[in-house]
Amino acid sequence: MDSLYTELQKLAETDKDVPLARMTTLRIGGPARYTVYPQNELSLDGILRMLKRENVPYKVIGKGSNLLCSDDEFAGVVIRLDRYFTSSFFRDDILTAQAGCSIISLAYDAMKLGYSGLEFASGIPATVGGVTFMNAGAYRSSMADVIESVLVYRDGNSEWISNAECEFGYRTSIFQSHPDWLILGVRMHLKPGNVNEIRELMDNRRQRRMASQPLDKPSAGSVFRNPENIPAWKLIENIGYRGKRIGGAMVSEKHVNFIVNEDHAKAKDFLQLADEIHDEILERYGIDLKMEVEKFNWK
Ligand SMILES: Cc1cc2nc3c(=O)[nH]c(=O)nc-3n(C[C@H](O)[C@H](O)[C@H](O)COP(=O)(O)OP(=O)(O)OC[C@H]3O[C@@H](n4cnc5c(N)ncnc54)[C@H](O)[C@@H]3O)c2cc1C
Repeated sequence: MDSLYTELQKLAETDKDVPLARMTTLRIGGPARYTVYPQNELSLDGILRMLKRENVPYKVIGKGSNLLCSDDEFAGVVIRLDRYFTSSFFRDDILTAQAGCSIISLAYDAMKLGYSGLEFASGIPATVGGVTFMNAGAYRSSMADVIESVLVYRDGNSEWISNAECEFGYRTSIFQSHPDWLILGVRMHLKPGNVNEIRELMDNRRQRRMASQPLDKPSAGSVFRNPENIPAWKLIENIGYRGKRIGGAMVSEKHVNFIVNEDHAKAKDFLQLADEIHDEILERYGIDLKMEVEKFNWK
């Protein structure tokens, strides 16, 4: 009998050998040995203490919408907060939400109550934890503009840290340099607005996304961060990679900074395509594109 599995089951709902392909929007990735769904902070605290004691690797995954997982087994524990850490409440214009909440649902909740600020996030298929970690954004706004403070679990304690302490930058935050910290929740400061105007803006943006992004295919959103002065898609277009395919992975015809899982893509197909794009752009333009998509569980 697998003793870690038995111990984890005492603390939380636990699954074995769930493919990461089922936990990511790209639909790529080998099995995770264990996946846990803690019900509350006590259960999460117990799990983290045990994993640290036993030296077991772990990874918290939100909607998996920014991850390129390898096809290998992840011999550790995936922690999912999107089953139970999903409470949120408004107190006037302050929205407090647990890390597993869907940011799309929160954007719609805010709109219905006439609060503005999350319109930019209404098409990002992600959790509150994931968008905070990434400082996700669109249309010149990002989470940094609305976050007032973040509830962080670190060194065995939970504490609120301020927006300034999160060190937000373009798709970066302090959490990226502290992979052992866990985001438990976020307090956001929204602004009173007009329901119809907010709804119209969100509708327009949804239509723009549907027209410009391959939402009918599995992807992890934009593959590369935009370098200064020129968007990544222009560089990819210039090197003639629209529609370029390796194995089952393909540069989207609709949005060239998306690589889609066209047909049972292997993780290596995706990575090889991304590497080729990177190297070609470096050679031709001297620009060292940085991946926005995060590689996870690569040796
Ligand atoms: C169709 C599509 C459109 C997209 N559009 C946009 C866009 O407009 N703008 C944009 O910025 N991004 C966009 N993305 C990318 C992606 O949605 C974001 O990067 C998002 O922030 C990832 O959130 P997630 O919950 O899925 O996190 P995951 O992908 O599951 O995880 C990302 C990272 O966050 C960490 N993490 C997650 N939760 C926690 C937590 N509670 N505590 C600590 N760390 C945590 C994970 O360990 C991982 O390192 C898009 C993706 C897709 C597929």
